Amino acid sequence: MTGVFLFAAVAGWTTLAAQIDSDVYDFLFRLQRPTLGRPSSVIYGIDERTLTQSGGLRNIRGILADGVERLAACKPKALLVDIVLADPTDAANAGRLAAALSTIPYVVLATDLTPRHGWEQPLGILPRRALGHVHADPDPYDNVVRQVPLEKISGRERHWALSLEALRAMQPAVTIEEDPKAITIGGTRLPGKREDGRPMLIRFGAMPEVTLADLADNPANCAPFTGKAVFLGLTAQSAAQDRHPTPISFGESMVGVAIHANAYETLAQRAFLRPVGNLESILFALALALAASAIFYFYSGWPAYTLAAGLLAVTHVIPWYAFQAGIIFPYTAPLLAAWLGIAAAATFQYFSTRRALHKAEADRSRYQEAIHFVAHEMRSPLTAIQGSSELMGRYKLPEEKRAQMAQMINAESKRLARMIQTFLDVERLGEGEMQLKRETFELTALVQVCLDRARPLADRKRIPIELASMENTTLTGDRELMEYALYNLLTNAVKYSPPETTVTIRAAKQGHSVHLSVRDQGVGIEPSDLKKIFQKFYRTRSAEKGPEMGTGIGLSIVEQIVTHHGGRIEVESSPGAGSCFTMVLPAQDRVPAGGPMR
Ligand code: ADP
Repeated sequence: MTGVFLFAAVAGWTTLAAQIDSDVYDFLFRLQRPTLGRPSSVIYGIDERTLTQSGGLRNIRGILADGVERLAACKPKALLVDIVLADPTDAANAGRLAAALSTIPYVVLATDLTPRHGWEQPLGILPRRALGHVHADPDPYDNVVRQVPLEKISGRERHWALSLEALRAMQPAVTIEEDPKAITIGGTRLPGKREDGRPMLIRFGAMPEVTLADLADNPANCAPFTGKAVFLGLTAQSAAQDRHPTPISFGESMVGVAIHANAYETLAQRAFLRPVGNLESILFALALALAASAIFYFYSGWPAYTLAAGLLAVTHVIPWYAFQAGIIFPYTAPLLAAWLGIAAAATFQYFSTRRALHKAEADRSRYQEAIHFVAHEMRSPLTAIQGSSELMGRYKLPEEKRAQMAQMINAESKRLARMIQTFLDVERLGEGEMQLKRETFELTALVQVCLDRARPLADRKRIPIELASMENTTLTGDRELMEYALYNLLTNAVKYSPPETTVTIRAAKQGHSVHLSVRDQGVGIEPSDLKKIFQKFYRTRSAEKGPEMGTGIGLSIVEQIVTHHGGRIEVESSPGAGSCFTMVLPAQDRVPAGGPMR
């Protein structure tokens, strides 16, 4: 899940993600057009008609002088000129323009950065209260203007944006405070570093426009201008070069003067659109990834999928809702975090459920096998107990015989109890639930007990069990289980050997381990069967055909016991030549008193 989150966070930083975020921003913008209140500004445009009626761009000074003279009569509060008036030609009209400008209470002239010469300054004779920069800052990837840099610095000269200068003209009481990381306008903090130009997202809307030709036709129509911030600039398609697409332009471009007027309205109405910070967006993505994993941790099946679909819906809807409140959420990183988070959590759940299912199935069949084994193994002592008790009940037996039978019943029921206990222990051992007892005991004592127990069976087949070399050592572990293991090897050796052969027990120390082996001269095992005989319920074909009863579970238990004691079991065998099973167990170095046993 961490990987998913990191991937989403990193992917969210890529150019592609930035472009998708921008497109979604534009889409949301068009979808719910953040509306502006009544504008306190107006565009005073030099359109095609104005230009054709007044001699075209060559006469721009004359056009401006006429326009500003007429405007002055309408008493605007401020005039923002979005044309850089740096050209020194046409001195006569420049003089007329200067005189007209001086009749307007607050004039801001445009300045712009030129690639070579820094700030382009308007003519000195033109009166102004301030200079505002008119750089629009389109997106480098798609040329769309979404924001305006409120501050531009070149060399030692810094200028506020034309729109911010308009705010200073219209609302002189509004405080503008700056710090290295943000600018605070009228108490609203807008994050943005000085070196990044302190960009401000523009809340684009429809702006009123009156052309210079309109006012010339009807000079008495002053209402649109009185007391307003008037943005004067070129709007003619053929002349305005600073045109850019905007989120609401639908393929058409917006002229620079309209962009600045929109930026001014955003500021004047404090209608800011604020992008959430990096930390917030990372936390949002993280929360979504965590929510995805929580869903699949606590639920499964349809409830989980329904909740996951809900989470995705929320992820899609949150940026939309936030946009209405003027908060801009990134889109790609949270969406990736949610989608990938859900996919990863669902996949993980699928595989872990499958694993759990397999385990449950294996457990069930193991349990059935175990029941089968118990039932089978219990039959012989039970038959003995049943038979003896029936005899005792039905006939009047001599006292000696009765005592013998009672003793037999007692011994058999003890064997039964021991068998059940061993079985339960082995079951719990397999499930890792049982703590092995840690007793210390002598190897020779262990061998002796098993030998005594197996001897009656061996005697029946006239098989002597011989002790060859016997190096004694101390073993640590569960004595009862170890006895079970060795006894099983001995009975197998006897079971799978013809009468009048020999079984040999050998114990030899090698380094820190002891090799305890049981060798017989029996039927032997095919090489292909050597691995399989340790599987539960596996019996070789010859064993199945032979007279000896068996369940095929003994060796699997022996192997489990030996491995739980930190050892291993080895087997050497060839058909017809007998077998040798060796338990390799960790031994303690101390040689106990008593010496080797013979
Ligand atoms: P069981 O003896 O009840 O069949 P085991 O798990 O003890 O089950 O043994 C599994 C199989 O391994 C036996 O069925 C037999 O085919 C083979 N096997 C075990 N011990 C010997 C042996 N000493 N000689 C030959 N085959 C053996």
